[in-house]
Amino acid sequence: MNMSMNQDIRVRFAPSPTGPLHMGGVRTALYNYLLARKKGGKFILRIEDTDQNRFVPGAEEYILESFRWCGIEFDEGVHVGGPFGPYRQSERKELYKQYADQLIQSGHAYYAFDTADELDELRKHYESEKKTFTYNAESRGQLKNSLVISEDEVKTWLDTGKPYVIRFKMPASEEVNMQDLIRGEVVVNTRALDDKILFKSDGMPTYHLANVVDDHLMEISHVIRGEEWLPSMPLHIMLYRAFGWNEPAFAHLPLLLKPDGKGKLSKRDGDRLGFPVFPLEWTDPQTGETTRGYREDGYFPEAFVNMLALLGWNPGDEREVFEMESMAEAFSLERVGKSGARFDPDKARWFNHQYMVLKANEELTRAFMPVLQQKGLMVDSEYVQQVVGLVKERADFVHELWDQSSFFFVAPDGYDEKAVKKRWKPDSYDQMMELKELLVKTEPFTAGHTEEMVKQWIEEKEYGMGAVMNAFRLLIVGALQGPHLFDIIALIGQEETLMRIQTGLHELGRKE
Ligand code: GLU
Repeated sequence: MNMSMNQDIRVRFAPSPTGPLHMGGVRTALYNYLLARKKGGKFILRIEDTDQNRFVPGAEEYILESFRWCGIEFDEGVHVGGPFGPYRQSERKELYKQYADQLIQSGHAYYAFDTADELDELRKHYESEKKTFTYNAESRGQLKNSLVISEDEVKTWLDTGKPYVIRFKMPASEEVNMQDLIRGEVVVNTRALDDKILFKSDGMPTYHLANVVDDHLMEISHVIRGEEWLPSMPLHIMLYRAFGWNEPAFAHLPLLLKPDGKGKLSKRDGDRLGFPVFPLEWTDPQTGETTRGYREDGYFPEAFVNMLALLGWNPGDEREVFEMESMAEAFSLERVGKSGARFDPDKARWFNHQYMVLKANEELTRAFMPVLQQKGLMVDSEYVQQVVGLVKERADFVHELWDQSSFFFVAPDGYDEKAVKKRWKPDSYDQMMELKELLVKTEPFTAGHTEEMVKQWIEEKEYGMGAVMNAFRLLIVGALQGPHLFDIIALIGQEETLMRIQTGLHELGRKE
């Protein structure tokens, strides 16, 4: 396929609304989106809902909401419209029959009247002989279809409304040569393929027919989709050729693998190992079962998307943390790998941490404020911003900020026992008394100045720096954690600092 600049790049994501969107699906959409952004093309969302048995209420809304959260935008689609609509296949229902008819006319398809029961029986019969029944070039001559039955009879059956399907007439033995942008040349002999149903007895096209017809009508230039669709590629190519249409370029993306690299990443792996496989939380409308999502687990959408992008693609250099814009700039299908991409939940966390650190304190504060409010704390957001700036390095998620910063908002309500045992020494009481005296007269109470004063005092008295600082931290924080101690006391202020020392002296007392 010629990828020159003046060729219009049109790509699509075409989910079936059969449940929540797997993170692998989000990655497929993302790669389509990145290619469109990079090449100034169009990205289309088409809902493939021709299989009415598998329709799940709420799934389409879930898909749209997921992309909104991820920041993946469509140029055309069910929710934004566009010149090639409608974009929901059930609304294009009337359109497909003529294409099936066209294939019958050109001899590439035929009517089949075999009932489900008849085919079932055949299947069983074959099984009893340890064989597998396939509707194909070999068997179709003995079955109930328009290749066998006389034209008149077919006409009568059609007129009397006898149920039928339309099947593709797969050539008996023909080499199909195909190009996949990721896998290179793929060759399949049609001997291995069956006569797939294109049009069903309920008046709906199957996925194969609707998908190919719509990709053609919507002028899709690149079909980029998951590896699980690779087996459908020969049929799709055969359909394009039967219609006499130009084929789009194909790219089949590698699978997402379990953390141990063995097999496809499934919802069950997530439940078992404790990570989400869906972008958003999902409640099954039938069972009421709720499944966790990245959003609800506290992931930033940017981190989630960034992590996904690198599962199967790399920019060719060491960069890992990308905003959407630079990711699009760096993206190319040539750098998508052939082999499955192992999902690593720790790496997902790592990405979230990177964004935590990158994010403006202001934005993090907005997300953190509700947590504080829930705890009944009325705090000034300027203050929270400073706190967040000091502790964000120590958290992977906004919901972890409280554990890293509670002592900025409330005095310790106890002292870590192990730390007391180890760090509250016989000298500590008197030293902290002295320190209190020193801090009462330390002005201004800035981090820099208090640090200078305290260190000077420690040196003069020849106290152990570690011993003093640990005891001091214990009184202020209640444990041996947290950022630079002088930053903490500067923020909580002189009065609060003195009060905490006072309380601590009272609570811990003199150690014998
Ligand atoms: N409707 C198919 C799906 O659910 C689309 C596959 C394709 O992209 O061709 O994944």
